[in-house]
Order: sequence, then structure tokens, then C-alpha cells
Amino acid sequence: ERTVQRIAAGEVVERPASVVKELIENSLDAGATRVAVSVEAGGTEGIRVRDDGVGIPEGQLEAAVAEHATSKIGDIEDLDRGVGTLGFRGEALYTVGAVSRLTVRSRPPGADAGAEIAVEGGQVGEVRPAGCPEGTTVEVDDLFYNTPARKKFLKRTATEFDRVNTVVTGYALANPGVAVSLEHDGRETFATEGNGDLRSAVLAVYGREVAEAMVDVEWEPKGSDPDSAGDPASAASPPVRGVSGLVSHPETTRSTREYLATYVNGRYVTASALREAVLDAYGGQLAPDRYPFAVLFVEVPPGDVDVNVHPRKLEVRFDEEPAVREAVEDAVEEALLDHGL
Ligand code: ADP
Ligand code: MG
Repeated sequence: ERTVQRIAAGEVVERPASVVKELIENSLDAGATRVAVSVEAGGTEGIRVRDDGVGIPEGQLEAAVAEHATSKIGDIEDLDRGVGTLGFRGEALYTVGAVSRLTVRSRPPGADAGAEIAVEGGQVGEVRPAGCPEGTTVEVDDLFYNTPARKKFLKRTATEFDRVNTVVTGYALANPGVAVSLEHDGRETFATEGNGDLRSAVLAVYGREVAEAMVDVEWEPKGSDPDSAGDPASAASPPVRGVSGLVSHPETTRSTREYLATYVNGRYVTASALREAVLDAYGGQLAPDRYPFAVLFVEVPPGDVDVNVHPRKLEVRFDEEPAVREAVEDAVEEALLDHGL
């Protein structure tokens, strides 16, 4: 049984960044307005995610770390968004608990006291009272301490931290209404305000120079304006419902594509079609091997996007890829033109 647990855990939990991803997802699902992530040694020694969400009532702590435990409606919401998410519903805390020392501490808002439960290498402890603020704190220490083979696959601390940073940044930018912070070995990496403004989130994450070099992208399909609302031609569902976000001036670039972030229906994804469309929009304006900053949200009909590669991977495919490419390229081109770029 232990072996089965460990194999399952290996599927879901590859490295600290995958743990962080699951924990942030849980915090956002819990309606948090603040999510504070702090990690030690790139997350290999410790990961802590604290939120101010709905919390877990004492009587449900045990269920939360059990196999197939989920308090969520299941995949309905994800189907609705058209982008699959966790792949293993109700498995995250259980699988993390199998390969680490896990503590879940929570106090639902309004509850008199908090409670916690600890899991060590799959051994579930007793629920105990705990002093804690409202919301939930999940701590994951010594990831893979009992699966040395898996631990060996971890990279240098700096590399693991880079991946954690990429994940947290991705969620911070996708959720400008949530105050997201990241700390590494006690030092703050960034903290967004959670005021709902994307540019302010970019400022917090990438700094002033980048934030000031960003221009607004706002694209809607033709015929979606109110004037043609009664027009039967616009009744058909357009393949792209909207493109919005921020892209940088062509001189504000980096030497990797890492800062070209794309989201489909609110989910962070990697899609070469989207990246290429953005780059095409800049035409010859980018220096060789330079990439712009972008935070782009693309909305498509949920049924038109396929994430059926691997639940852990972020690559997506579009049914209407040429239309999506064209929309993204037009959207970015227009934004640059509007700013005389
Ligand atoms: P899933 O998210 O797929 O339901 P998880 O293993 O990630 O599965 O979490 C199990 C359950 O624990 C969730 O359904 C939820 O009820 C509870 N839970 C986990 N994290 C939090 C959190 N940060 N705030 C509130 N509830 C949480
Ligand atoms: Mg979850």
C-alpha cells in the first residue's frame, strides 16, 4: 500500500514547484484574498502557504488529507473553464503527505479556535487544537525525505527556486485581485497588492522599469459591439472571445521567453501558437534572440481548447488555432500601434 502511495505521489509531485502549485490552487479555490508563500532552500527543505480563505473546519481536517478527499464539486467548474487543472481531484494533500512531513493548520473565519493535523510519510496523526489566524496554513517540510530516488532528481536550490518563482509569479499575475507574496529563505522576493490592477501586479513582480514599458492590450472580436447585437451574423460564437493584458515596448526585452506569459480562460498555459503570434506582432522590431514581456489573457469557447496532453503539463492545443493566432497577433499589433510603437 505504501508503494502505491509513493508511486501516485511521484505522478503528482515532481518537485517543490508542483507542491506550491497545488497549494496555491487550494488557496484560490478557498476564496483567499491573500496568499503568502514562503520556501526554504528552493522549497526542498520547507514550503509554507498561508491564506485567508474559508478554512477547513476541525471536523474535516482528517478528510482533507485522505485519499480521494475533495470538498469540491469535481470537474464541473474546470470543464466550464475549458482548461483542465489538477487532473487528480482530491489527491494533492494526500500525495504530498505521503512524501513529506505535512502540517495543515486552519481556522475558518468566525471559529473560536484553530486545529491542525500532521502527516509524516503517509502516517496521519491526530487532529489537535492549534493557535492560528483565520484561514489555512499548509507546511511541507523535507519533501521526498522518504523517497531518496526522487529526491535525487531535484536540481540545485537556485533552479528549484526559479521554478517556484515562475509558478507563484504566474498566479500573482493571473489574479491581480489577490495579494500574493513570495519569500525565499526569509527574504521577500515580491508581494503584489491585490488591488485588482494588472499593471500594479507587474510592478510588484518585475519592477518599475518593466511596468512602465508595458502597453495595454484590449481586443474583442468584430461584431461584438452593442450596435450589431441584433445582427444574426454575430450570433455565431466567435472562435476567440477576447484578448487582453499587457505587452512591453519592443526595447524592453529579455533573452528568454520566460517573461512571455499566456493564459487561456484564466489558466496559465504554454502554447507555442500563442508565443509565436505575440512575436509575429512585433515584426522585425525585436533584436535577435530577444523576447518581450507579456501578460496576455486569451478567452476562447471552453470546448475549443484541448489540454489532453498530461495533467501536469501546461501545453494546450486549440481547435481553431489559425483564428487564435490571428486574434492574438492583431491584438498585440494594435496595442503597439496605438502607442506609436
Ligand atoms: P482538491 O483540491 O482536488 O479537492 P486537495 O487534496 O488539494 O484536493 O485538497 C483536499 C481538500 O482539502 C479540498 O477539497 C478542500 O476541502 C480542503 N483544502 C485544502 N486546502 C485548503 C485551503 N487552503 N483552504 C480551504 N480548504 C482547503
Ligand atoms: Mg487541490
